[in-house]
Amino acid sequence: MNLNNASAEQLAELEEQLAGEYDAIKTQQLNLDLTRGKPSSEQLTLSNALDGILKGEYTTSSGVDCRNYGGLDGIPETQTIGASILGLPQENVLTGGNSSLTLMHQAMSVAHFFGLQGPGSAWSKEETVKFICPVPGYDRHYSVCEHLGIEMITVPMTAQGPHMDEVERLVATDSAIKGMWCVPKYSNPTGVIYSEDTVKRIAALGNTSAAKNFRIFWDNAYGVHDLSDQPVQLTSIWDACVAAGTENSVLQFASTSKITFAGAGVAFLGASETNLSGFKQSLGFMTIGPDKINQLRHAKFFEEEGSLRRHMKKHADIIKPRFACVLKHLETAFTDNDLGAWESANGGYFISFDTKPGLAKEVVKLAGEAGVKLTPAGATFPYGKDPSDCNIRIAPTVPSVEQVDAAMEVFVICVKLASVRQALNG
Ligand code: PLP
Repeated sequence: MNLNNASAEQLAELEEQLAGEYDAIKTQQLNLDLTRGKPSSEQLTLSNALDGILKGEYTTSSGVDCRNYGGLDGIPETQTIGASILGLPQENVLTGGNSSLTLMHQAMSVAHFFGLQGPGSAWSKEETVKFICPVPGYDRHYSVCEHLGIEMITVPMTAQGPHMDEVERLVATDSAIKGMWCVPKYSNPTGVIYSEDTVKRIAALGNTSAAKNFRIFWDNAYGVHDLSDQPVQLTSIWDACVAAGTENSVLQFASTSKITFAGAGVAFLGASETNLSGFKQSLGFMTIGPDKINQLRHAKFFEEEGSLRRHMKKHADIIKPRFACVLKHLETAFTDNDLGAWESANGGYFISFDTKPGLAKEVVKLAGEAGVKLTPAGATFPYGKDPSDCNIRIAPTVPSVEQVDAAMEVFVICVKLASVRQALNG
C-alpha cells in the first residue's frame, strides 16, 4: 500500500474499504491493552518460589539478622547481584526497596536540594536547572524532572544512542545542564543499545561539562532482558568512567522489577564512593534501612551460579512470541511503504513505532475507539508533547499472543486509515 502515487479516486476507494474494516472491528467490542510495560502473570509466576524460600532462616552469611532495622547499603548478597547487573564493584552498589524509580527520584532530589558533594554542589542553588532527555524516552524520567522543576532539553535518539554531537555541544556550553537521562540497553521505547563509542563519549562528558556538578542518570532497567541467545554486549560505563577519570559523573540504576516481582523486587544504585556517601547522608533521614528480608529472599533465589541468566531465558521464552507477533504485523503491513517505521528490539519491553508526522494521536484515538488501548501519543516526550506527533510505544508483554494478534490487526488498520485520510485531506 503506497499512498504517494495514488490518485484521489484510489485514495477515496481505499478509505471506504478501510473504514468498512474499521467499523466491522468496532462491532466486536474488543477490550485489548498494549499500554504499560509490565510482566505478564505467566512471567511473575516464574518467581513464585521466592515465597517461603527463607524457611525461617533470616540471617545473612555475614551474620546480619534481616528482620531488624539497619543496613543502609542493603545486604552484601544483593550488592553482589547489583554489581553483576551494573558491572561495577560490589562496594559501589547500594540495594534498596522494590523500585529503582524511587532510587532515581531520591538521588535526583538529593543532587538537586542537598548536593551529592556537599551543599555547594546542590543544583537548586542556581536559578535554572536543565537536564538532557533523549527522545523518544521513558515518561517517568520526565515526570521526575517536572516534579523537581527541572527544565528538559530534548536530544534525538539515533541507532547508536543519543545524538552525541548535540549532547557534547550542549553539555560543554551550558552550565545550567546538570545531567542527562540514559536507558543504555534496550532503551525505552526504541530498543536501542548504546554503541561503544556512545558509552565512551558519555563517560567523557564529566571532563568537558560546563557544570562542575554534572551527573548522568544511567538507568539500566533492561540490562539482562535479552530476547536473543547472543545479545549485543553493552560497553561498561563504569570501566569507561574509570578510564576517563569521571567516576563521579555517573549514577547507575537497575532493579529486579522485571526479573522477579514488579511490585516486590530489589532496586540497585551503583555509584562512586563520593556519590554513594553523598546520597546516604540524605537517605539516612528517609529510612533506617531497606527491606532486607526481601533482599535475602532474592539472594537465595539467585544463589546458584548462572541462575539469573537461566531465569531470564524463561522470561524470553514467554515474551518472544508476543514481540514476534507485533513485528509480523508491522512487517506485513508496512515493509513496502512509508506509513510506519519501527525498531525490532532484541530485548526490553517495547517496540517503538513512528507513524507519518501528525498521526500518532489520531491512531491512538482510532484504536481506543475500536477497543485497543495504546499508551497516549506524546508520552514518550517531555511534557507529553511529541513535536512530530508520530511516536507510539507498543508494549506487548501483558496480553496473550492471541490478544496481541487481535490488537495488532486493529492497530494496522488504524494506521492505514489515518494515513489515507491524511493523504486525502492533504
Ligand atoms: N526504568 C525504565 C527505563 C523503565 O522502563 C521502568 C519501567 O517501565 C522503570 C525504570 C521502573 O523501574 P522500577 O520498577 O525498578 O521502579
